[in-house]
Amino acid sequence: MKIDLTELLEKVGNDADIEESEEISFPEDNLNLTSPVAMKLHLVNIGSSVLVEGKVTTEAQLECSRCLEKFKFPLSIDIEEEFTKELFIASGSNEIELKEGDFTGTIERDNTIDLAELIRQDLLLALPIKTLCAQDCKGIGGK
Ligand SMILES: [Zn+2]
Repeated sequence: MKIDLTELLEKVGNDADIEESEEISFPEDNLNLTSPVAMKLHLVNIGSSVLVEGKVTTEAQLECSRCLEKFKFPLSIDIEEEFTKELFIASGSNEIELKEGDFTGTIERDNTIDLAELIRQDLLLALPIKTLCAQDCKGIGGK
């Protein structure tokens, strides 16, 4: 989930397309992913930050809350996030104001960003509130 931005950071306007998939698990969230997390991302250096946009897809195994059967649920999330190097904020003009509540990711000192946390949060938000194997599931022993 780590992406090296060294080349991207060299010049404003530099961009890159990244396509990769990785097996990740988030055991602490009860999120059981049954297929690798596939990322298709576009990254652009917009000067004050790096904009990361794209799509992330995977599949989770959920348990039906009515019949307790396990079923697979495809997850697809849109990523749109800015990553800022702390240096940019410190040395930048006053135009860059980070308001409280704004969430921007941080570019590490070694020019990498880690998308794991962002993806974890977005995947959890994409989970259905009611986990049903089928809309008309009749529950345990139901007909
Ligand atoms: Zn069910």
